[in-house]
Amino acid sequence: MSTFQDRKVTGIVFNIQKYSVHDGPGIRTIVFTKGCPLSCRWCSNPESQMLKPQMAFNATRCIGTDKCHYCIPACPYQAIKAEGNALNIDCTHCNECESIACSKACPAGSIITYGQTRTVEDVLNAVAQDAIFYTRSGGGMTISGGEPLFQKDFALALLREARRRRIKTAIETCGCYEWERLEEAAPLLNYVLFDVKHTDSEKHKWATGVGNELILSNLKKLLETFPELPVQVRTPVIPGFNDDEETARSIGKLLKGYANVSFEALPYHRLGTQKYAFLGREYPMGEVSLPAGVAERVQAIVDEERGAK
Ligand code: SF4
Ligand code: SF4
Repeated sequence: MSTFQDRKVTGIVFNIQKYSVHDGPGIRTIVFTKGCPLSCRWCSNPESQMLKPQMAFNATRCIGTDKCHYCIPACPYQAIKAEGNALNIDCTHCNECESIACSKACPAGSIITYGQTRTVEDVLNAVAQDAIFYTRSGGGMTISGGEPLFQKDFALALLREARRRRIKTAIETCGCYEWERLEEAAPLLNYVLFDVKHTDSEKHKWATGVGNELILSNLKKLLETFPELPVQVRTPVIPGFNDDEETARSIGKLLKGYANVSFEALPYHRLGTQKYAFLGREYPMGEVSLPAGVAERVQAIVDEERGAK
């Protein structure tokens, strides 16, 4: 594909976050794309899971139907009704709604649109604004999600255009797709953040909705086919799911012997729980928390098992 065609490719993006220092080397801009084959119980970006733009409602910002009711006539499905001074939104139609007209009509930011169709050119123009920081820090652009390769054509066009602009690239991936997607993306990448949630497929399926065979096979192929590409395997340490010694040792064994891999244990956090409420969903993890020191213990066991210093 020519670079001109790449710039016109569109995809659905729900956030562009600048000055990140957690998702790859140096100072980075994170492009969050929508769509994911997994639905992890602890997902801190539930708005990323569905491929299309999505409506959400923050009732605390609504100024009340006695003062404002712009959203009500804006909805083509008559899904919004006033009930006294509050709103009753019947979300059964919202998955079909392309325009999310209620959000555009709301002056208070109470009705949120998660996701916007954007061109590669538009996204890279935003990313390139911080080019000076990337040069000084060794940073660049990280595509995250959701799963970046769920919108494969968009992700590849973003990576090619970033390369054309001499911006270093990374993806944060769940690894769950046919190998050819990663095989095509890898030569365009300077760094890969690869999530491994569990080595036991049944447990993985219980927590994420899918087994892990494809994920672990893709990780192995990535490490072996592209030995020069730095890969950081990350495990979100989830209480009662993968915070035990046996699981940590099995992850360490998986990574043993590869020179191009590093590992980071990410402590479970509860950021994003509010977004479940905005989306009218229950947070699947309930009230659990991760005791202090557990993620550090997992990190130490994995490092010991894989033979890292
Ligand atoms: S997202 Fe669409 S269908 Fe749902 S309330 Fe808003 S305008 Fe109506
Ligand atoms: S337009 Fe916004 S502020 Fe006004 S009633 Fe609807 S949700 Fe509330």
